[in-house]
Amino acid sequence: MNKNINILNISTSKINLLDLNRQDLRCFLISLGAKNFCTDQIMNWIYNYYCNDFNKMFNISKKIRNQLYEKSHIFASKFIEEKVSYDGTIKWITSIHNQKIETVYIPEKKRSTLCVSSQIGCALKCHFCATGQAGFQRNLKVSEIIAQVWRANKTLKEKKIANGVTNIVFMGMGEPLLNLNNVVSALKIILDKNGFGLSKRRITLSTSGIVPALDKLRHMIDVSLAISLHAPNDSIRNCIMPINKKYNISSVLNSTLKYLKYSNANRGGVTIEYVMLDGVNDSNENAQQLASLLSRIPSKINLIPWNSFLGSSFLSSSMNRINIFANILRKKGFTAMIRKNRGDDIHAACGQLTGNITNRSKK
Ligand code: SAH
Ligand code: SF4
Repeated sequence: MNKNINILNISTSKINLLDLNRQDLRCFLISLGAKNFCTDQIMNWIYNYYCNDFNKMFNISKKIRNQLYEKSHIFASKFIEEKVSYDGTIKWITSIHNQKIETVYIPEKKRSTLCVSSQIGCALKCHFCATGQAGFQRNLKVSEIIAQVWRANKTLKEKKIANGVTNIVFMGMGEPLLNLNNVVSALKIILDKNGFGLSKRRITLSTSGIVPALDKLRHMIDVSLAISLHAPNDSIRNCIMPINKKYNISSVLNSTLKYLKYSNANRGGVTIEYVMLDGVNDSNENAQQLASLLSRIPSKINLIPWNSFLGSSFLSSSMNRINIFANILRKKGFTAMIRKNRGDDIHAACGQLTGNITNRSKK
């Protein structure tokens, strides 16, 4: 069992089964005297039937069920608040010891995407990001990451909104690569055929580029990768993303290339995220620089209109400027998409998640 994670619930001293990926769960069940196939059965109950009551697991022997009940539980914190946007986006809030976790559901024509958080707050303090400005509180446990998906799917089914999420993006609160072990363990459950069973191409891990962790990641898991680049050179990136002084653009892109070599999930290239900040990184020259910077990187570029939040002095580039920027990239042969802002009326858009229900944007 993974010794790095604190899987015991202090108050009950019971193991939360949502903390255990297949390998950890198998070890635990074998320690109770269960057979190997029991792992599939239990995972099926938890992730296919959304069952958190051992008594209902009729194909598990009474003896094992009693042991499970004594030593473990299946606990997913409830959503304490739900906000629905005019565009159908839903923001859910979980509260654990007064700390808030935000999860966002984004329905589209052909898919329904869940944006999950990996930390409460973020230590990296990117200047354009409300999460970063709110500061860092702690890493989420595996069970707290998994509970977001479990609750979302259960809620969507019960309310007949959708059959469950089809895509998951790690673009909520926090930097996933600074919570590497828990995020990878959660990804294993999301990918597992008896877990949520999503394909690796439908799961996106977004990172500002923590190079040592990105170098490890390719040996741990294969999922779609998004790199938050946001600048065409180090001097601009240093100004808006303090982490660039530690891991500069070329080290991030080199590490990204190594990940791509190993990865099947990223056959179409890595996603490059680029938030459009008026007068900061959005000139024609910046677009040309970005194109030459990425000439060696198989990639598609997502241009993100900046979402405002209280206390920030940035402005988003105009749609006209974003279109001109995108067209320069397209003429150079890149796929450049302009991301639609979803859920900004409920502060559920990229970079607006602070765990604070009452935060207000300047809009
Ligand atoms: N920490 C990770 C994942 C969470 S942020 C990362 O940085 O990639 C998810 C995405 O939202 C990132 O691309 C981030 O740069 C972007 N973002 C942050 N603040 C934003 C804002 N105010 N407007 C638009 N996008 C923002
Ligand atoms: Fe953290 Fe990502 Fe926000 Fe930067 S953009 S502060 S890395 S959450």
